Amino acid sequence: MLTNATPTTDKAPEGAPRPSNLFYLASSRRPLVDRAEGIYIWDQSGRRYIDGSSGPMVVNIGHGNRNVIQAMKRQMDRVTFAYRLHFENEPAEELARQLAARMPAGLDRMFFVSGGSEAVESCIKLARQWAVATNQPQRWKVVTRFPSYHGGTLGSLSVTGDDALSQSFWPLMQKMPTIPAPAAWRDRDNLSMEERGLRYADMLEEKILEEGPESVLAFIMEPIGGAATAALVAPDSYYGRIREICDRHGVLLIHDEVMSGAGRTGRFLGGDHWNCRPDIVAMSKGIGSGYAPLGAMAASSRLVQPLLEAGGFQHGHTYAGNPLACAAGLAVLGEMDRLRLIENAAAMGEALMEELRGLQSRFPFIADVRGKGLLIGAEMVADPETLAPIPPRRMAYQRLLDLCYERGLIIYARRVKGGRDGDNFILAPPMVVTREQVDEIIGILGDALVALAGELDLPVNG
Ligand code: PMP
Repeated sequence: MLTNATPTTDKAPEGAPRPSNLFYLASSRRPLVDRAEGIYIWDQSGRRYIDGSSGPMVVNIGHGNRNVIQAMKRQMDRVTFAYRLHFENEPAEELARQLAARMPAGLDRMFFVSGGSEAVESCIKLARQWAVATNQPQRWKVVTRFPSYHGGTLGSLSVTGDDALSQSFWPLMQKMPTIPAPAAWRDRDNLSMEERGLRYADMLEEKILEEGPESVLAFIMEPIGGAATAALVAPDSYYGRIREICDRHGVLLIHDEVMSGAGRTGRFLGGDHWNCRPDIVAMSKGIGSGYAPLGAMAASSRLVQPLLEAGGFQHGHTYAGNPLACAAGLAVLGEMDRLRLIENAAAMGEALMEELRGLQSRFPFIADVRGKGLLIGAEMVADPETLAPIPPRRMAYQRLLDLCYERGLIIYARRVKGGRDGDNFILAPPMVVTREQVDEIIGILGDALVALAGELDLPVNG
């Protein structure tokens, strides 16, 4: 019994804040969720919301998928937990096989965890152990981009380019070298986008040389940006040049596909749009689609074998390879195929992007719209010519989020302090979204943008 806890009651008096023993990021309270189906979520008062961001880009196959739920029930009736050091289990074996078949050539070894931070943590630890096992113990630095988000555990936070998030923890962690995220659309120079892409990639080489190539272990990046950069896509030239630079200096390339993976961008991995060949891939979010906490790391035998021979991977979590989570992951992949969701993400993504560009012409304070498939981001500024940001105290991203929420649309919105990005937001509905629902999302967003422009005195056309 929790004798010291403040007692809570189920029902708060009308108008009073509901008491709670839980605490999260913000002090503002949200309604209690009741149920969810497809792209919709209902709260306990019966209000319906469109889940326009799939939570934080998680519920890729949509809510309430009966086949996934049935598969999980079947697994629950057999066994929900068997420790991986005591037993192997079929769902984990089969999920590893099916994921390996979808990875870039050579990434045939899988390691399962329970979320994105654990997946990124696993990538860093695998890279480091590979270096130690192959007689390169001087390699330990993991270069990352600014801004970026790679997780909240101390290791993944050390490669997260967001000082506001990490600052209080610096004494506890090793802060890693950063290079700028390739926000080429912002640059005001005479270079073509492709030239800018190469220039951003070359910043990696400059950083490696500055740090001392013998000390650099890996470079981590999201092929298509997520939380920190709202679906930022680099110019095409960037991706190949990054691979060349990593090869030249013996630096491992880690792709964080926690958000961009699992079909959301219209390909299984975001990096597949450029035929990228990362050495290690982190995945989570969409592979469990919210049905179970699941994350995965994919790596090549070339990396894994030396450290297995040197005594094994010195890493693991109790829930790694959990049969129930893996059964959910398997059923999610099955539904993605059966419902042709990756094709739908590509097609609906195009429609959503076109509609959002339509809104951009009405609301010129939307300075950039970008993304792939159903990972679409937009950036808002005070002045589209100078790209001067909306003053942070106006909390434009939060206001837009709230104005949408009040109108029954959930979007993802954020501002990275100290970055070059302004207030940004992401649209990323579940991959089951239909053309009519795309229109519904755009209709509500348009209304919310009218209200936002009025409140903050932002320019509107027509
Ligand atoms: N990497 C990326 C790219 C992410 O978007 C996130 C979550 N937003 C993480 C890592 C961390 O994942 P989790 O919150 O599941 O630990």
